[in-house]
Amino acid sequence: MEFEAPRIVQVGDPVLRAATAAVDPGTIRAPEIQNLIQGMVAAMHKAPGVGLAAPQVGVSKRIIVMEDRPEMTAGLPQEVLMEREREPQPLRVLINPVMALVGTETRDFFEGCLSITGYTAMVARHREVAVSYLDEKGNPQEWRARGWPARVMQHEYDHLERVLYTDKMIRQSFMSTDEFKARHATKLIADLKQELGIP
Ligand code: ZN
Repeated sequence: MEFEAPRIVQVGDPVLRAATAAVDPGTIRAPEIQNLIQGMVAAMHKAPGVGLAAPQVGVSKRIIVMEDRPEMTAGLPQEVLMEREREPQPLRVLINPVMALVGTETRDFFEGCLSITGYTAMVARHREVAVSYLDEKGNPQEWRARGWPARVMQHEYDHLERVLYTDKMIRQSFMSTDEFKARHATKLIADLKQELGIP
C-alpha cells in the first residue's frame, strides 16, 4: 500500500524560499523522518514526477527523493532520450546532500517543477555532478550522475538552496506544458532553439 501523499505546495508559498536545515543523522531512522520520506515518495509517484525536495511538501529539511521509472518516458523517441542522456533510475533518497559540479560542460534542456504546475522552460545545467549524501538508513553514499539524472539532481538541490528553475531559465523558452507536449516534446534541442529564436 502506498503511503498517503502530502500536498505539493505551489510557487508563492514562502516555504519554497525558506532556509532548510540539515537532518540530524541520529534521527533518520525515527518515524518522523521515515514518514516524511515515505510521504515524499508517494507524492512524487502520484504527481507523477522524477524528483521532489522536502520544501515542496512544506518541510524545510535537506531531503530529496528521486526516481525515473520507465513509464515516465514512454512514447518519447529514442533519439530524444539519447540526446537528454535519460535512462531509468532507481529510487534514491538523499539526505543532507553535498553536491559538486563536475567539469565545465553544460546542457540546455526543458525541465518542469511540481511546484510550478503547468509550465516548463529550458535551463542550462551541468552535464555531470558528484554527490555525497546519507541514504534512508543513514548510510553514507556517493553518486556520480551524468545527463538527465544530473539535471534532476541540480534542480532538486536548488530547492534546498531556496532556488526555483524560473530563477535560472532561458526566459524566451518559458511555455505551458500543454504547448510543450503538443508541439515540441519530440524535437531535438537545436531545432527547438532555432524555432524559439534562442542563440
Ligand atoms: Zn522543482
